[in-house]
Amino acid sequence: MIDPWLRNPSNPEAKGGKDPLASLSKVDYILLTHGHRDHVGDAVEIARKTGAVLISNPELAGNLVKLADFPGKQAETDAIMGIGGEIQIAAGEVTVAMTPAVHSSSVFNPKAGATDAERAYGGNPAGFVLMIKNGPTIYHSGDTAYFKDMETIGEEYQIDLALLNIGGHFGMEARMAAKAAKSVRAKLAIPQHYGTFPGIAENAGVFASELEKLGVPYCEMKPGETISFRGKQMTQKK
Ligand SMILES: [Zn+2]
Ligand SMILES: [Zn+2]
Repeated sequence: MIDPWLRNPSNPEAKGGKDPLASLSKVDYILLTHGHRDHVGDAVEIARKTGAVLISNPELAGNLVKLADFPGKQAETDAIMGIGGEIQIAAGEVTVAMTPAVHSSSVFNPKAGATDAERAYGGNPAGFVLMIKNGPTIYHSGDTAYFKDMETIGEEYQIDLALLNIGGHFGMEARMAAKAAKSVRAKLAIPQHYGTFPGIAENAGVFASELEKLGVPYCEMKPGETISFRGKQMTQKK
């Protein structure tokens, strides 16, 4: 799971008193791009419930253990990494690269007293590239602003699918997110980080029309939908 905020208000599984965590049984890894609440989400509870191992920068991992009671053993493994690095997970089935993101990263401190800062250091914000053996290479942009060096990500990795934050206000505006899809040479772009809370884009209309101008294939996913790949080709959406 990447940035698992399952109890977010747009998740149909979180409506009407339903708990989206109730049906979770197997989660191997939780990847966190940065420490903001809409990204750490339900990571601590998911980790406790499933034993999932944390993949994040060391400062965020350390503070989640210290301040939010993330299970220490699951946050102190070889999967703690830094921007520019690559690690192998899932017995070599997946290579994870941590990429730069231009944003901020703090982590909410639920133990803060009256004179303590409400936010603790969350390390540098990041994105991820997941290279899946016999499967697609996926870029997740985190909450980044557009930056020209995204072109380097596109040169270095053959991005089959780019998950791009399009919400604006706190990160890339949709127009720039479309430019990002082009810069990382995405073969398919899926928008994320919109339609959840006030202040960010309510829909992906601008992103879709900008991508069309740039000739980048586009797919919109509604909460709860699944897409499948065979090799590097998307085969199904449901
Ligand atoms: Zn953020
Ligand atoms: Zn965010």
